[in-house]
Amino acid sequence: MRRTILITGGAGFLGSHLCDRLIADGHDVICVDNYFTGRKQNIEHLIGHPRFELLRHDVTFPLYIEVDEIYNLACPASPIHYQHDPVQTTKTSVHGAINMLGLAKRLKCRIFQASTSEVYGDPSIHPQTEDYWGNVNPIGPRSCYDEGKRCAETLFFDYWRQHRLEIKVARIFNTYGPRMLPNDGRVVSNFVVQALKGEPITIYGDGNQTRSFCYVDDLIEGFVRLMGSPRELTGPVNLGNPGEFTIKELAELAIEMTGSKSTLTFLPLPQDDPKQRQPNISLAKEQLGWQPNVPLRDGLRHTIEYFDRLLSEGAAA
Ligand code: NAD
Ligand code: UDP
Ligand code: UDP
Repeated sequence: MRRTILITGGAGFLGSHLCDRLIADGHDVICVDNYFTGRKQNIEHLIGHPRFELLRHDVTFPLYIEVDEIYNLACPASPIHYQHDPVQTTKTSVHGAINMLGLAKRLKCRIFQASTSEVYGDPSIHPQTEDYWGNVNPIGPRSCYDEGKRCAETLFFDYWRQHRLEIKVARIFNTYGPRMLPNDGRVVSNFVVQALKGEPITIYGDGNQTRSFCYVDDLIEGFVRLMGSPRELTGPVNLGNPGEFTIKELAELAIEMTGSKSTLTFLPLPQDDPKQRQPNISLAKEQLGWQPNVPLRDGLRHTIEYFDRLLSEGAAA
């Protein structure tokens, strides 16, 4: 059934891919963004499409529009960007959630929250399951993001309990792919851009910390399945790729796949950087029939092609 769907953060990395997917599925999409880390280039191919509408708006302010479904993705995701103005990051997560929940409550519509594996902090159980409560520093440099997202989850579950709102909470693990910002600061974009430019690959710490990398197309399929799941399935549901790699392995892969002459350089590990991270996705497999299909090498190939094109156009120079 054709629906009108609001995507906050729709001009960002994940949001723009979600816009593409929902337009392709035949829906009307309203993309809301304040362009803090999003770019018009990510969605410019949709501008002028009869079922696409773009709205410059900051979700920390109320929004009165009429839609059938809401995906709430607005929030900077890279540590560099979310630590740039930490108070604004918390406001975006918390006030943004309140406003979008208020909108969903008035419209009696489903609302999806892009939560994060960061709610597990530096996890003491491995791999992480949804029933793990996490190990988060409440007063550190990552707290604006981690605690902001945790508070947003609290709000979602209180609106569900108090107002019977239909909520869908996804805990997203590290995701990568085309349309990440070249200077975004996240590890995949940093390493690929550095390798393509022949610059030193910046490994923070000894590179033995691990992450599990999900290709964007796989993740977006998970979003759509979760949103379409039965009412009782509120989540939180882990969405990510269980393939776990050390950061050093990722650096070596980026060098190998680009044929780069880049060397490795070791820089201090940022405070509170989680040592390991891997999703347990049993719940998503059982309840959504979802699992990622794109191996790291294949996803990296698409990502390398994207950044190579961007660099040759001079956009990331
Ligand atoms: P991104 O930074 O590319 O996208 C975020 C978008 O939100 C940007 O377009 C930005 O301009 C917009 N935005 C920020 N503050 C806003 C505000 N106050 N009002 C309106 N728009 C605002 O990041 P992303 O990787 O696409 O992440 C999207 C969502 O998914 C975020 O909520 C993030 O926390 C979550 N997430 C992403 C990952 C990942 O690996 N990519 C992992 C876990 C969670
Ligand atoms: N809100 C919004 N759009 C709407 C309805 C509500 O942005 O269509 C905002 C509004 O600013 C409010 C917040 O959502 O502060 C929470 O709404 P709710 O109805 O839950 O709370 P209340 O208005 O009673 O404080
Ligand atoms: N990282 C790194 N070099 C970089 C960027 C990141 O070694 O140029 C490391 C970072 O310290 C962390 C991991 O890569 O251990 C993932 O970092 P990212 O910022 O992508 O995501 P998050 O820490 O939020 O998982």
